[in-house]
Amino acid sequence: MSKHDDSITELFDKNGNLIGALLTAELWAEIKPMLADRLPKEEPEEKPEPIADWEMLKDFWDFPYPVDTDVKCDECGSQTEDWQKDEPRKFKLRTANLGGLVSFRCCNCKSRISKRHFKDEITSETTPFIENKDLNKEARY
Ligand SMILES: [Zn+2]
Repeated sequence: MSKHDDSITELFDKNGNLIGALLTAELWAEIKPMLADRLPKEEPEEKPEPIADWEMLKDFWDFPYPVDTDVKCDECGSQTEDWQKDEPRKFKLRTANLGGLVSFRCCNCKSRISKRHFKDEITSETTPFIENKDLNKEARY
């Protein structure tokens, strides 16, 4: 038998129609990058924390109290004095804006914690994570 490339095996149905092909893992690894646009997207990376927004909020801090770094999840009781210092992190920053709204995701139960800064008080609100039943949508976050 002549040595032919056996890294591709064509598949036929019972009528002899070509229905597809099998590739060896080696060949697939070689070809895969060329097809990146057509392949299902890899698991999306968790969005990076908007640390720059947080830094900006701190820079423009005009509330009559110091910057607060404590976060508490009312759902599972997880809490921290300084969310940036935990290792591993208990809370991930989700949003921060100059209006004083800072929100986090609890790494333990995925609840969303929204802290609002007002002139005379800080409020914290925990919204439990609800699994999105619609499987067509990104259900994780
Ligand atoms: Zn929690």
